[in-house]
Amino acid sequence: MSYDTQPAASHFVAGGYVEDTAGAEIEVIHPATGAVIARLHEATDRIVELAMVSALEAQEVWAAMTGAERGRVLRRAADLIRERNRALSELETMDTGKPLQETLVADAASGADALEYFGGLAGTLTGEHIQLGGNWAYTRREPLGLCVGIGAWNYPTQIACWKAAPALACGNAMIFKPSESTPLCALKVAEILVEAGAPAGLFNVVQGRAEVGSALVTDPRVAKVSLTGSVPTGRRVYAAAAAGIKSVTMELGGKSPLIVFEDADVEDAVGGAILGNFYSSGQICSNGTRVFVQKGLRDRFLRRLAERLEGVVMGDPMDEAVNFGPLVSAAQRDKVMGYIRTGLGEGARLVCGGEAVPGGGYFVQPTVFADVTDGMVIARDEIFGPVMAVLDFEHEDEVVRRANATEFGLSAGVFTRDLARAHRVIGNLHAGTCFINSYNDAPVEMPFGGMKMSGVGRENARAAIDHYSQLKSVFVRMGAVEAPY
Ligand code: NDP
Repeated sequence: MSYDTQPAASHFVAGGYVEDTAGAEIEVIHPATGAVIARLHEATDRIVELAMVSALEAQEVWAAMTGAERGRVLRRAADLIRERNRALSELETMDTGKPLQETLVADAASGADALEYFGGLAGTLTGEHIQLGGNWAYTRREPLGLCVGIGAWNYPTQIACWKAAPALACGNAMIFKPSESTPLCALKVAEILVEAGAPAGLFNVVQGRAEVGSALVTDPRVAKVSLTGSVPTGRRVYAAAAAGIKSVTMELGGKSPLIVFEDADVEDAVGGAILGNFYSSGQICSNGTRVFVQKGLRDRFLRRLAERLEGVVMGDPMDEAVNFGPLVSAAQRDKVMGYIRTGLGEGARLVCGGEAVPGGGYFVQPTVFADVTDGMVIARDEIFGPVMAVLDFEHEDEVVRRANATEFGLSAGVFTRDLARAHRVIGNLHAGTCFINSYNDAPVEMPFGGMKMSGVGRENARAAIDHYSQLKSVFVRMGAVEAPY
């Protein structure tokens, strides 16, 4: 099977596709060619209201089911996603421009993992019994109600599932707004959930830009907001949610350190740096874009890095031999090229890359800068493109201090053969998701999220349950009530 890039309608609400052509147009562009592959409309107030009402109704039905029943639906959805992995991956590649070689293994597949994992957990969610002498108390783990999910454009299917799976497992409903740049695949997730047995309206997808997101976040019927996006957007959405005392999960940006000590296996370290900078053309929030290399290894590391980057195959992302795709949009390409010019102007040494590729697509070569210093803009800002900054260091204490000198705290990695040092350094780094002799692994069983400005809350693993449920405490007196008068 394969999917048309033009969906039946812009939104998936109340169990089916709905359209309202009064909403502003959204052109969906294939980033490898610049061709328009679909035309959608932003959600109007009418669509948002329909989504709210149907989600609230569905949530009541869903929360009244047992956890095991809910879990069965999520696991069936995971199976359907796996069966349709190729069609979903092709659609994701058309939407994001990421190579099919990647989307076949990292997008729908990761979404299915989340639905399967939280489907399995759904039947295990319990409160506790607390004995208090003759009296006792118990807690009930209850859903929050209606959750809003808002996604970035780099992993549209994965983000939709990472938010929907724990939310639905806990008995909530969700309205999801994809990024306007990549609106297609969340619609398929919604379709599949209904096919798997979810009540109509339980998972709605509405399209739109910031205004639609803002309407969702500020609606008093919404109990929780989960955003994947940049820090500036996170600040705005968090503030809007705070006004309604809503629970939040914020998965935001990063400028993560990847530290390579002289005793590291150089091939592994280079491999980690490649995965942590150039996978998805660098459009990954947890990327280790500040690569600190201990001085004695620096030249060998850079030489092997440049040699291995000759293995990049850039081109039509639908060709499975291609391993490096375009950026998501012309605006993102221009932003990344602006940072490359800034890096050159700041005196960083260009080791390789540095050019945009002429033509209709939004390709930028994988780019490595060496001799980068801490104060340079390219060492401070999240670029969200294929630009690696290599910085030198001499001592462990020095590199830990410099690695932590950032407002971000999403991820960190260490390459060394000295495992005591690896654990010590990781223990001292201010980051939520860390790697030792590896980079960017994101198994669903491991909590994912940031410290400092990189976020609030955790996705994946049991940790996510706490962010999509609330405890009700119930005190039970077994004897007489002794009142003073
Ligand atoms: P943005 O922050 O620009 O947008 C994120 C989402 O929020 C989009 O759907 C956007 O809509 C929406 N939005 C924007 N303004 C508002 C608002 N005021 N109210 C409600 N919703 C709003 O991020 P990008 O899409 O550009 O994604 C890149 C960023 O995401 C990077 O900084 C990256 O680090 C971060 N990211 C973080 C991850 C994590 O897990 N920590 C994972 C992936 C990405 P629209 O796009 O339609 O304007």
